[in-house]
Amino acid sequence: MGASDWEGHLHAAGALALYAHVPFCRSKCAYCDFSSLSTRADDPLVTAYAASLARMIGQAADAGLLEGCRTGYLGGGTPTLMGPAVGALLSRMAPHCPRELSCEANPDSLDAPTLAAIASSGATRVSVGVQSTSDEELAALGRIHTSAQATDALARAVAAGLDVSCDLMCAIPRQGEGSWRRSLDDVLSAGVCHVSVYPLQIEEGTAFGRRYADGDPAFNSEDVQAARMREAERALTEAGLLRYEVASYARPGRSCAHNRAYWTGLPYLGLGTGAAGMLTAEGYARLRAVAPQLPPAPEGAARARLTVTSGRREVAAAAGLCDLDFDLEFLTAPQAAAEDLMLGMRLTEGVGEALLAHARSVLGEGAVDDALEEAAAESLVRATPAGGAAPTERGWLLGNELFGLMWGLAPGTVASASARGRGA
Ligand code: SF4
Repeated sequence: MGASDWEGHLHAAGALALYAHVPFCRSKCAYCDFSSLSTRADDPLVTAYAASLARMIGQAADAGLLEGCRTGYLGGGTPTLMGPAVGALLSRMAPHCPRELSCEANPDSLDAPTLAAIASSGATRVSVGVQSTSDEELAALGRIHTSAQATDALARAVAAGLDVSCDLMCAIPRQGEGSWRRSLDDVLSAGVCHVSVYPLQIEEGTAFGRRYADGDPAFNSEDVQAARMREAERALTEAGLLRYEVASYARPGRSCAHNRAYWTGLPYLGLGTGAAGMLTAEGYARLRAVAPQLPPAPEGAARARLTVTSGRREVAAAAGLCDLDFDLEFLTAPQAAAEDLMLGMRLTEGVGEALLAHARSVLGEGAVDDALEEAAAESLVRATPAGGAAPTERGWLLGNELFGLMWGLAPGTVASASARGRGA
């Protein structure tokens, strides 16, 4: 495979993946810095917001932006807060997501009618925020569901015929080796085919950020994080799930195609408050045709990164894409190649020969090979038999170093801009 094999999707005229964000939850978890607001399920703002998202998806489709789209993800927040009405929004996405459509769910709101609405909407997959199966740990995290609710929700989703994934969190208050192992065993017993595991990140501006402002607590130390991640790898691979990304494990053939799009340089459209998107220069030009508030891409831009900065009320009140506010970043072809190398290092398979050939052609052979040699000398990457490069376990443990080396290949500074919608 040569550089041109990789270059093909760098010029896709639209999005190959679709993300829609529902920024509402029943209550705020103590560690959460995601875009979400706690509210009631029957808040009219939630209904108006969902209707607006559906309108914008239709508008993007009419503009030809979703012609090659294969996968979708309805995330949050808590999409299942909407109850069975979430099915209507998923049905709007489904025709554009023939390969895979996921819905994020919380155990407390994945009741029988909501699950039935998801299963009949065209969605193929649910991703359930379990985090732990210890009631003590769940309470410490500020989660509003119990362990029994979580394992019951997983088992019912499996029985409904959906691919079921769950998130688990390690290095959290009150967690010990034994309870971590039990959480892993409990979700495996419920029949999930995909598990994502994350160490708790204590972020500023959250309840945990304030509580632990005086220093890193022992339960969250780097050593504890590394030990828990190692235990997860042991337990999950022993149960037949393969680690395909630094935080993701799946039964063979059940990795998340949508998340893979983020790590393999495929363009995606993100809609809703706080949603991120990435488009080629061609895709960006197509979006501008229906969102004229977007500035022209600067000379030499190969990729646009977009974040919707409109609040929930603005999105709910928007007539269409032309009313949205965005923050923008424009990457040149060399910067985009460095970004693809960085993101590819999240995957077990690493970066393939075609991406390396493309990166060498735009970043210079010497620069790419020097960075890879430096990473290999530090045991952060290894060469693959197929002519690519893949991260080592140490490369993942020292992720910032490895990802920094790859992104460090990007020349110049990334151009940025913002755009205010018609309604602003
Ligand atoms: S359910 Fe998820 S998005 Fe909502 S507050 Fe908790 S962690 Fe944040």
